[in-house]
Amino acid sequence: MKLRPLNKIWPGDNMERMLVSACLGLIPGAYYILIIKVLPELLDYGSAGYIFLQLLGMFLFSNLMSNFIMCVLVDPSIDPSTMGSPLEREKQPREWHECKKCDIWAPPRSHHCKICDVCVLKRDHHCNFTGCCVGHANYRYFFYFVIYMLISSLVAFIASLVFVYFLRGGSYKFVLLPFANGLYDVREVFNEKGELNVKELLKSVIPSQFEMVFAVLFGLNWVVLFSTICFLYQRWPILISGVTWYELRTKNFNYDRGLRLNLQMIFGSRMSLSWISPFISSPLPHDGIHWMSEDKDAGDGN
Ligand SMILES: [Zn+2]
Ligand SMILES: [Zn+2]
Repeated sequence: MKLRPLNKIWPGDNMERMLVSACLGLIPGAYYILIIKVLPELLDYGSAGYIFLQLLGMFLFSNLMSNFIMCVLVDPSIDPSTMGSPLEREKQPREWHECKKCDIWAPPRSHHCKICDVCVLKRDHHCNFTGCCVGHANYRYFFYFVIYMLISSLVAFIASLVFVYFLRGGSYKFVLLPFANGLYDVREVFNEKGELNVKELLKSVIPSQFEMVFAVLFGLNWVVLFSTICFLYQRWPILISGVTWYELRTKNFNYDRGLRLNLQMIFGSRMSLSWISPFISSPLPHDGIHWMSEDKDAGDGN
């Protein structure tokens, strides 16, 4: 496994820096709010449900962060020293292509990324949220990150709905908490004499710090849940048919090797265990270089 040089990890683009920082800040922030603030109000401390959700939260959070970090750290770019000999390339003259920017002959399915300025093996796309390219070597981590993001945002969404319901004493409304707070407490701003208590009025209308943070995270939760569902729906054929995003758009299914092998090309030969943690070794059954579109069995076992 080749790792990216440390000085290349932090993206050069300002928007990507913001998105990577958002992932690194918001995921732990949302986890903290849910586990420390929301969960103790939903379930009794020490109950079976409380322990189950604590463990589930820990599992999802650790997999989200570690798959994100591995996706960023693992280098999917081409190592020029591993490129095939001219003789090998002559066997597939149409499949190899010259990259003038990297000054190399690049194998089939690789593409040059303008942002990373490298050629990437079995390149799928450049991800702005991780600030790196997603290709042959780091596809596993990227996909698990997205899948765990979907599961986590679904769990967080359900927990937040229940939390809002209980927090408001059964008066659940699809509105942000600060506004709900203003609406529910407005009758308490008059004292016994019927005079307006400005201090109480402000207290009821202006949301607390926690309510503001929760409202923002709850709103983001909707966006993330919807986005990951759309993303996985759109990219599902990549898992099933073993194609890259570029090949899917150009309807090139020449590298489809059947469901099992296609999945192994992403999740590795120990894919039944690879979901537990990105640190579980699951070697890829292909070197990402010697693809043969006509003879689909060639190249396996490397
Ligand atoms: Zn290149
Ligand atoms: Zn890139």
